[in-house]
Amino acid sequence: MGRIILLALEEVIGRIGVNAVLNLAGLQDRIGNLPPNNLDLAFPFEEVGQIQESLERLYGPRGGRGLALRTGRTCFKYGLREFGPMLGISDLAFRLLPLTMKVKVGAEVFADTFNKYSDQIVSVEEADDLFYWQIERCPVCWGRETEQPCCHLAVGVLQESLFWVSGGKNFMVEETRCIAAGDSTCTIEIARSPIDG
Ligand SMILES: [Zn+2]
Repeated sequence: MGRIILLALEEVIGRIGVNAVLNLAGLQDRIGNLPPNNLDLAFPFEEVGQIQESLERLYGPRGGRGLALRTGRTCFKYGLREFGPMLGISDLAFRLLPLTMKVKVGAEVFADTFNKYSDQIVSVEEADDLFYWQIERCPVCWGRETEQPCCHLAVGVLQESLFWVSGGKNFMVEETRCIAAGDSTCTIEIARSPIDG
């Protein structure tokens, strides 16, 4: 998953941008040295948090946020390629579900994937018109202290996953609580129905 983050970041800001971010984060060892393509838990959460912080320092809070969102969306595409076949979400049975069920089942499968293949702890809670994506141990803001919720990378991943699951619709996805901002979880609210009907 660390490899996917770096590949996605490179697609969004280019090789020179990635090198600048890694330098600023004090992660020179990672320059030109992607983690191998395996499921080892060898990419520490500290690095994920440091990369997010450097992105904001380098491009400013607004620019950094936009780039983190785009990187998250790109991460989903790479992730789907690596993890999709073992999740069953490309199967015909999944594709035939009604949209609301697809979103629910997709969110649960996706949370299980993070819980199984990373040290992240995620659960999904349902309310009337929302899902709460609750991250108890969050790599994106690991080691950070911020005024505002800052897990834009995670928001981007979820936006793109919903776009994919729904066959091209956009959903309201917003982080309302964040561990870096002093909350007990990073909580991302996901609307049950798409914005564009
Ligand atoms: Zn977080």
